[in-house]
Amino acid sequence: MQDSIEKFVQFFRETYYNDLLSVAREYPEKRSILVDYNTLDKFDTDLSDALLNDPNETLKAAKDAITELDLGIEGEYNINVRVENIPKQHHIPIRNLRSENIENFIAIDGVVKSATDVRPEAVRAVFQCPDCQKEIVVPQFGKSMQLPYACDNPTCGRRGKFKMLRVDLVNAQRVGIQEPPEEIEGGEQPTQLYIHLAEDLVTPIERKKTTPGNRVKIYGILRKSPIITRSGTQTNRFDLYLDANYVIAVEKEFEQVELSDDDIKNIKKLAKDKQIYKKLISSLAPSIYGYEFIKEAILLQLFGGVNKVHEDGTKLRGNIHLFLVGDPGVAKSQLLWYVSRLAPKGRFVSGKKASGVGLTAAVVRDEFAGGWMLEAGALILANNGIASVDEFDKMTSDDRSAMLEAMEQGTISIAKAGIVTTLRANTSVLAAANPKYGRFDRYKLLAEQINLSPVILSRFDLMFAIQDIPSKERDETLSEHVLSSIKDPKSIKPVVSEETMKKYIAYAKVNIKPKLSKEAKDLIKNFYVSWRTKYVGETGTTTVPLTPRQLEALVRISEASAKVRLSDKVLPEDAQRAIRLLEYSLKEIGTEPETGKIDIDRIVSGTSSAQRSKIYTMLTIIDELSQKVGKAVPEEDILINAKERGIDNIAAADLIKKLKEKGDLYEPKPGFLQKS
Ligand code: ADP
Ligand code: MG
Repeated sequence: MQDSIEKFVQFFRETYYNDLLSVAREYPEKRSILVDYNTLDKFDTDLSDALLNDPNETLKAAKDAITELDLGIEGEYNINVRVENIPKQHHIPIRNLRSENIENFIAIDGVVKSATDVRPEAVRAVFQCPDCQKEIVVPQFGKSMQLPYACDNPTCGRRGKFKMLRVDLVNAQRVGIQEPPEEIEGGEQPTQLYIHLAEDLVTPIERKKTTPGNRVKIYGILRKSPIITRSGTQTNRFDLYLDANYVIAVEKEFEQVELSDDDIKNIKKLAKDKQIYKKLISSLAPSIYGYEFIKEAILLQLFGGVNKVHEDGTKLRGNIHLFLVGDPGVAKSQLLWYVSRLAPKGRFVSGKKASGVGLTAAVVRDEFAGGWMLEAGALILANNGIASVDEFDKMTSDDRSAMLEAMEQGTISIAKAGIVTTLRANTSVLAAANPKYGRFDRYKLLAEQINLSPVILSRFDLMFAIQDIPSKERDETLSEHVLSSIKDPKSIKPVVSEETMKKYIAYAKVNIKPKLSKEAKDLIKNFYVSWRTKYVGETGTTTVPLTPRQLEALVRISEASAKVRLSDKVLPEDAQRAIRLLEYSLKEIGTEPETGKIDIDRIVSGTSSAQRSKIYTMLTIIDELSQKVGKAVPEEDILINAKERGIDNIAAADLIKKLKEKGDLYEPKPGFLQKS
């Protein structure tokens, strides 16, 4: 030990003396010196080996060595030694951590999943022996206070209770790290490791590195802590945690897909192919038959539009959100699952299973140490990627409000149990839902069939309804396709391999930021204006076919389309592609079956314009009647009057129910209705 201290004194004098002096000048604000492992290794391989295999003693020796240097700090001081760049063999995937690694210096990679608040924690407790008055120092680690076993005065050796004199506290925090998505094989559950951070690793600036959702590399000593049962007894099993020594924030987004020069050449060549859209679309989930439009939309979602920030600070998202509603068994879940695997940083989550945690973010009880901790869900973990959310309509009300913010602003704000923070969730959402009554009904409004508010629905750029209607021709090709893929799974080969596709998307996302050309802009503008005025002039129409939200959607989709060609410019053909997709999507979900007109209110307001006008008629009837009979109007009279104006009894009763639900009407006594 003394030997190592002397070696470290020499090491610091020769290599890090100036760095130490600059730490000393800012002490105690600065309290750490960062040592490059390679520098230490060059200086003395015994020291570097000892650091990896016996880090407790070695780091202590290094710390003690610093106190022996003359740094010009008055009084006692305490400078931590932090180490980076350790050899590859000591970078260990979380799932491969074993008992052999305990008390070794290692590095792990991952995404921050959860974080507790910073709280004081005992590092040392000092006790006094009631017999011989000797002070006994007990280092603290683990969940509960460690007490002295016996008095360490050899002539005393007392056992039993000791008086606690004082505890030394440090600020500490615990964060949960999950394996990085690219290291998880399809379908596997990511494993998690808890990290213990203390002292200057939890200063406000350092803490930014470990905000949930961030990518990090953490160096530290792997430790074990006994698993204590609920009744308080210690089991013979142990949990592992990492006692952090140094944290690096890793700015890896899509670049985490590594591209060689050959890859880039290959991608650029593919981009020039006239058939590139067709090739990529047909390579997307090739085992799933049909759905060309949906697959085209998904392809564009994978590339995404361009994020924009205006001069006044308002942001415009580039993320494209898609919504699939449809009959059961039409491969919605399959499609979602496929996309979550293909998209770099993709996540698959079910709204139902995710209840609160899992999907957006939640403040949950910290089971390890009590108190609260923040836990990130799929939308945060898939920041800058895609979250496939199945059973979207089954999410909890907390998730619903967080989802709204995430889909529009790209953030999730949390203010609960004293934890107030905003997390990044710049994530594209691919959502699917089954209609409430089993099958999708074209004659009913979307909002009546799925348990989602029109506000959330309006955040989706494109929506698709999938109906499973028997058709001999389609059924034959579909069954042939499905059966032959079951018989010989290798028979269905994508034209562009999954790997190439992944690289292609990653390259385009990072490098291509297309701008609207004048021609494309005019096309979109003309489409918007002509659709907005389409039904104006027809008598009594109040139909709104488009809102400015669709305008923004068209820009995003056109930008994504240009990215597929790796083009810096959004051309008319891109705008046309976007318009074609939007038209298709609106026709499916937004067509008024009675008139054949497209009405965006069928999607985004929960009442169609046809219904709105009927509601208006109903309210007029009630007004007229109440002038004759007083405020409370007999329901029977309303129904008779409505029938005279072309609203049959069933429809009228339905409208009354709606008005009651909205609070526009109430029932002052049975059989009577009154306006609120
Ligand atoms: P959903 O989520 O829409 O209820 P699933 O994704 O669970 O449906 O699909 C049910 C099964 O039917 C899956 O095994 C899927 O592969 C198959 N299937 C349905 N439609 C198709 C299709 N068009 N092509 C290939 N397989 C299909
Ligand atoms: Mg499903």
